Amino acid sequence: MRAVLLAGIAALGLAPAIAEAQDRPDQKAFFSLYKELVETNTVVGVGSCTRAAAQITARLKAAGYADSDITQFSVPEHPEDGGVVAILKGSDANAKPMLLLAHIDVVEAKRADWERDPFKMVEENGYFYGRGTLDDKAQAAIWTDTLIRFRKEGYKPKRTVKLALTCGEETNGAFNGAEWLAANKRDLIDAEFALEEGGGGDSDGKGHVIGQSVQVGEKTFANFRLETRNAGGHSSVPVRDNAIYQLARALTRIDEYEFPVEMTDTTKRFFSEAGAARGDEMGKAMAALAADPADKAAEAIVNKDRFLHGNIRTTCVATLLDGGHAPNALPQRAGANINCRIFPGHPIEEIKAELEKVIGDPGVTVTQLPPKRPARPAPPLDPKVIGPMERLVALYWPGLKVIPSMANGYTDATFLGAVGIPTYGIPGIWGDPDGNGVHGLNERVEVKAVYVGRDFMYDLVKAYADKP
Ligand SMILES: [Zn+2]
Repeated sequence: MRAVLLAGIAALGLAPAIAEAQDRPDQKAFFSLYKELVETNTVVGVGSCTRAAAQITARLKAAGYADSDITQFSVPEHPEDGGVVAILKGSDANAKPMLLLAHIDVVEAKRADWERDPFKMVEENGYFYGRGTLDDKAQAAIWTDTLIRFRKEGYKPKRTVKLALTCGEETNGAFNGAEWLAANKRDLIDAEFALEEGGGGDSDGKGHVIGQSVQVGEKTFANFRLETRNAGGHSSVPVRDNAIYQLARALTRIDEYEFPVEMTDTTKRFFSEAGAARGDEMGKAMAALAADPADKAAEAIVNKDRFLHGNIRTTCVATLLDGGHAPNALPQRAGANINCRIFPGHPIEEIKAELEKVIGDPGVTVTQLPPKRPARPAPPLDPKVIGPMERLVALYWPGLKVIPSMANGYTDATFLGAVGIPTYGIPGIWGDPDGNGVHGLNERVEVKAVYVGRDFMYDLVKAYADKP
C-alpha cells in the first residue's frame, strides 16, 4: 500500500468540493459489488480469494461477458488463493491491450480489536469502514464495475481492456496471483502497460484533496545472511579472533556505509515538484538535489527525512542477529540478516558484491536468502500513460497536478515489470493524513473518495481505451 508521500505539502489551490451523487443507478449497482467484496473475507489462510473471484465472475457473466472472456485460476496447493482475469476485446487489431490489476486479498483483522465488524461494510460519518475498503478492494471493485459498465453501455474500446484480480499481495511468501500469471499466463495478461495501486490522492483530513500522485517504479528487496565461524574454545582463555567481534566489525562497516545518491526521471520530478510545493527548508533542499544530485549540502538536509533518504539510494540495514552457543564458551558462529532495499536497475548480485567490498573481510560470508525477487529498471515517464492522468486530474481537481513518485516498498508491479509490462500506480481515490487504518485498525475510506475516484477511474480507462 502507498506511503503518504505528500503529507506536509501545502495545497496548490483548493479544489472545489466535487458534487457527488450517491443515488445514481450505476452507483447503486457498484455499491452492491463493492459491499459484497469487502464482506467476503479474503485473508490468506483464513478466508477465500477464490470465492471472491467467483462472485466477481458471476457479476461479469450477468453483465454479458462470455465464458471465453473469463479465466478463473488457482493452483491445487492453494485452492483458496485464486483469482480471475477478464477481457473486453478491442476493435483495433493494431492497438496493444491495457491491463487493470488489483489484489483482492486483505491483511488480517480481528473483530475483538476493531470498533465494528471488519467484514461488514459500515457507512458512518461520511466514511466506509471495513477491512479492504481502501486497500485494495475499492480499486478491485471499481475496475470490475468499469468493465461491467462498458459492456452494459455497449461501449467498444479500440484497445483491448484486461482485468486481473489476484491474491497474495499482502502476505510475503504466499501464493501470489500476479507472480503466477506473469510466469504461467504471460499471453493472457499481455499488455502495453498496467494500472494498479500505489498512487492516489491525499486529503488534508478536512475534506480537501491537496495532492495527487502516480507511482512510477519501486525498489526491490533482498535479504543477505552474514556469517562468521570460529573454532571457539573456553571463555576463560579468549583470543583476538572471535566470531561475534568479527561480525560486529562487519555490521559497523555496513552501518557507516551510505550508498550513493541516484535519481530516476520520476524521482527528479518528484523532488522538484513536491519540493517546490512544500516551500520549506526541506522543500528547497529537495528541489536543489533534483537540479544537482551531487549537491552535498542539499543531500545532507534531505537525508534527515527517513522516506526521502531511502528514496534516493539503495539502503541496507541489519534486522536480525544471532551468535554463540553458551555463556561460558567462545562463539563458534555468529550471524545477522541484512535487509536491502535496492534502487531500480541494480542486479542483486551487484549489491552483494558491494556489501562484500564494504565489509572487506573474506572471513565474513555473505549469502543471498530466498525469495529472489526480480530487479528491473523503473518504468518510463511515458507521456502516453501519464498524459491522460494529468488531463483528468486537472479536470477533477482544478489547480492540482499529478506528481510522479517512486515507492521505497514494492507492490505486484515487481512481477509484471519483470516480464516487461510497465506498471503504474494511479491517482484518484484519496486517503487521509493518518493513513486510514490500512493494514491496521478500523480501516476506512471517505465515501466521496470512492465515488469520485470511481468516476475518475472510469474516465481514465476510457481515455486509454479510446486512443491507443
Ligand atoms: Zn494493497
